[in-house]
Amino acid sequence: MGIPAEAQQEEKVSTVEKRWTLNDFDIGKPLGRGKFGHVYLAREKKSNHIVALKVLFKSQLKQSQVEHQLRREVEIQSHLRHPNILRLYGYFYDQTRVYLILEYAAKGELYKELQKCKYFSERRAATYIASLARALIYLHGKHVIHRDIKPENLLIGVQGELKIADFGWSVHTFNRRRTMCGTLDYLPPEMVESVEHDASVDIWSLGILCYEFLYGVPPFEAKEHSDTYRRIIKVDLKFPPKPLVASAAKDLISQMLVKESSRRLPLHKLLEHPWIVQNADPSGIYRG
Ligand code: ATP
Ligand code: MG
Repeated sequence: MGIPAEAQQEEKVSTVEKRWTLNDFDIGKPLGRGKFGHVYLAREKKSNHIVALKVLFKSQLKQSQVEHQLRREVEIQSHLRHPNILRLYGYFYDQTRVYLILEYAAKGELYKELQKCKYFSERRAATYIASLARALIYLHGKHVIHRDIKPENLLIGVQGELKIADFGWSVHTFNRRRTMCGTLDYLPPEMVESVEHDASVDIWSLGILCYEFLYGVPPFEAKEHSDTYRRIIKVDLKFPPKPLVASAAKDLISQMLVKESSRRLPLHKLLEHPWIVQNADPSGIYRG
């Protein structure tokens, strides 16, 4: 007699896409707190694999109406495979909570490192910027725009490699277009091109980040919100005399912080820029 075909089929599916529960993990120390919950170090019992388990409360997600955003974050991040993008291995939920199984970034937040040193050396900054450019090239190739590149969303792996985390604001342009318009066939050139256009927001953010790495503050910082706004609109870019930064770095930043988005330095050209070539560690890892 044997197992009916449907049951066999189900068996196959469940081994390929395992359903996780809290019982599969030993929970360790807290790693941090986010807006919607806590992150813990955890070990998957069967494999001994160390992960970061992010625990989100459903009630808070509902209250802030971010369930949709979380679903998109999970959908996008779980399909990405790149050394400089934090892996999302899977997720599960119970009555009150949602759990995200994340790659563990042993050296923590980049933000804290930057606060500690105030600003980075050109070698360190260039190594990070090159890694981020490679990660963004990969993302954009998959029609994903991150839209929220900043020090708080970057983590550091065990070897010192940078990891983009937090895909809460990212979008899958191809998907969105498809669901909005049904088909690409009727779109005019400027809308077809807007994939590239939209992706250039990440180039701008990378330019801001490069400046912040080297000077310790973002370029358009001001006391009042309205002044920052004005400075961004004008692209009021100034390079203070201290700390001393090579003119090649300023040249690169100036080519990324361009108002007209289509004129921003494409990411593959960034990787060929003399300042990157001369300063970035070819391994992509900053070892201190
Ligand atoms: P917020 O929106 O306020 O930033 P969040 O919900 O996005 O919160 P996270 O920033 O992801 O939460 O996580 C909170 C903190 O936990 C992080 O700042 C970081 O210190 C730590 N953390 C999160 N994920 C990891 C990870 N994969 N490895 C190591 N530490 C992590
Ligand atoms: Mg965060």
